[in-house]
Amino acid sequence: MKQSDATLSSDHLNDQLKTTIPDSLALEKWADTDFNWSGKIPVTAFERLSVLSDASQLPEPLLINAHFYRQNHVLHLVFKVTGEVWLTCQRCLNPVAVDLTDDYDLALLDDEAQIQLIDEDQDYLVLNEVVEQSHHEQLLPFKTLIEDEMLLKLPLAPKHDDCEMAVEQVGDIPEIEQENPFAALAALKGKL
Ligand SMILES: [Zn+2]
Repeated sequence: MKQSDATLSSDHLNDQLKTTIPDSLALEKWADTDFNWSGKIPVTAFERLSVLSDASQLPEPLLINAHFYRQNHVLHLVFKVTGEVWLTCQRCLNPVAVDLTDDYDLALLDDEAQIQLIDEDQDYLVLNEVVEQSHHEQLLPFKTLIEDEMLLKLPLAPKHDDCEMAVEQVGDIPEIEQENPFAALAALKGKL
């Protein structure tokens, strides 16, 4: 892991980045206006991700660049995550870094009829299944959607590529078939 001293200069360059992430976006305000957002967000800001993290490691903040826009009548939440989280290796029980770096693209449909407007392999959610009503505003749970996508990217049983030797003497820990705890998140989506 990089020492914080070594990252001081790059942190300085990123001074303009936000360090907190908005919980939600007001749909009426942003649905027809491009919304761009960039932030360097500590893993601890994401509760579910934090709970799974190995407490002995202090991860670098996650760099997140998000773009919310309408294209061909359909809303899209597109974002790039750069960074990693530390989970616990299921073989040797030491911390293992899991890379979350990826481009994520979610279509947010007004209704099921809009399915015909998107590509066959496009991930999508139906807005009224995710939008929260607050007073007279419809709020898109921006932070939750981003965290959901990162959780779905995590391996079910994180392991080092190369820690087999260390545990050979005591034998492998038997693997238990288990259901992905985030299967319900994936089921919400049209595509896996
Ligand atoms: Zn390991």
